[in-house]
Amino acid sequence: MPCGSSQPQRLPPTSKSLLRENLSGLNNPDCVITIRTTPHPDYQAMLDVALEEARQGLEEGGVPIGAALFRRDGTLLGRGHNRRVQDNDPSAHGETDAFRNAGRQRSYKDTVMVTTLAPCWYCSGLVKQFGIPTLVVGESRTFQGGLEWLRENGTEIIDMRSQACEELLGKFIAAQPEVWNEDIGEE
Ligand SMILES: [Zn+2]
Repeated sequence: MPCGSSQPQRLPPTSKSLLRENLSGLNNPDCVITIRTTPHPDYQAMLDVALEEARQGLEEGGVPIGAALFRRDGTLLGRGHNRRVQDNDPSAHGETDAFRNAGRQRSYKDTVMVTTLAPCWYCSGLVKQFGIPTLVVGESRTFQGGLEWLRENGTEIIDMRSQACEELLGKFIAAQPEVWNEDIGEE
């Protein structure tokens, strides 16, 4: 698929599976796609918020993974980033930080969790526990976490295959492999 096309992908309103096919069919890692369709939220704009969080985490000296919780209409409920290093808290992942910052919600049925990296088991459990129906990941090449498990359990997964997300984390892992291994629970 050519990468130079700046045309947003327009998909039929009800074709969630088609959307997944479209995304999984993009094998070119240089491709950053923008999806703007009326029935689907603007996933790239949502990911940009998570990416900002990841960059902020890096500036603070932490693991650059960011996340945000939105309503499907694009309303931002909460945003956050991994604070393992900053807070000396191994349970402060990007997803949990965003989730906590969103505060109590009556329902998660119309929410979208966006994260720069595929979620670990712990955060996958959070998505499942609270019934967050849609998960947008910046990338899943660096780490797959519980992505397949979530997919099998009915969570809609959108993998944006973002080179920006991959590069940001990749540089950090190269510079501080021991902190990364600690973060994913590897000895
Ligand atoms: Zn996690």
